[in-house]
Amino acid sequence: MSTRSTKGLVLQTWDYEDTSKIVTLFTENWGLVKLLAPGVNRLTSKNRYSLVTFTLGEYIFFPTRTKNKLSRLKTGHFLADHLAITENYNNYLYAVALSQIIQDAQSCWEPNPQLFWDLNKAFNNFNDDSKPLNTFVRFLFYHLPTFGGPNLLNRCGRCYKLLQQYSFFSLNELKWVCQKCQESFEKSQNRDWLSFIERLHNHDFWSSEECYFSTTHLLILGSALLDYYELVLGITNQPLKLIKNKPMFRKLAPEIYTDSVLTSD
Ligand SMILES: [Zn+2]
Repeated sequence: MSTRSTKGLVLQTWDYEDTSKIVTLFTENWGLVKLLAPGVNRLTSKNRYSLVTFTLGEYIFFPTRTKNKLSRLKTGHFLADHLAITENYNNYLYAVALSQIIQDAQSCWEPNPQLFWDLNKAFNNFNDDSKPLNTFVRFLFYHLPTFGGPNLLNRCGRCYKLLQQYSFFSLNELKWVCQKCQESFEKSQNRDWLSFIERLHNHDFWSSEECYFSTTHLLILGSALLDYYELVLGITNQPLKLIKNKPMFRKLAPEIYTDSVLTSD
């Protein structure tokens, strides 16, 4: 039987029988792959270090011929372990939340190399404790279209006309809204906030890492993204709920806090 080879990230593992594991990998070449890894819990197994959660590795496996069955691991070599993610509870939550989103929203055998390398970059940042909140929010923002959200950079999200000027970004719809479509209760937003969203739109997940973003703006956008993923995209999981319930997000009651940050000059 022919094998397949790919880089992959370990999203989740379960012990199976005495010595084996069932592993969900998100791979560069084949998207989500579910594997049986026989014998990897033995101390002598050469593959065991490549199957620790969040590890980036190089994997060779025998693909399943039937959709509902597991593929079978031949060999795994670890490239980066990302072990330090588990040393910080917040970083661990961010990493598990993104892993779960991908497991819920992506189908098996559907490759998305961009998503794969972005996830690896996010794991690197969580592992190094480098801008973890910033990384988490940017990942959710840039991958809105991946999971079914809007992708309108320079058009009004309601009438789809090209925008002449940026004056309002709807936090409920995560879209720009032109002045004609702006409702009377939607107060115009200040320059700081608008330029924050514009800068995000002018970059991608990698290049935006070099930008300065204020924590307040990231929290406001993050809170809107968490709502949008749950209420509009129907993507939710326990880690996302725990993140949403953190005091830093909960205090952003829109009517008293968010509005005043976005509309005052
Ligand atoms: Zn419009």
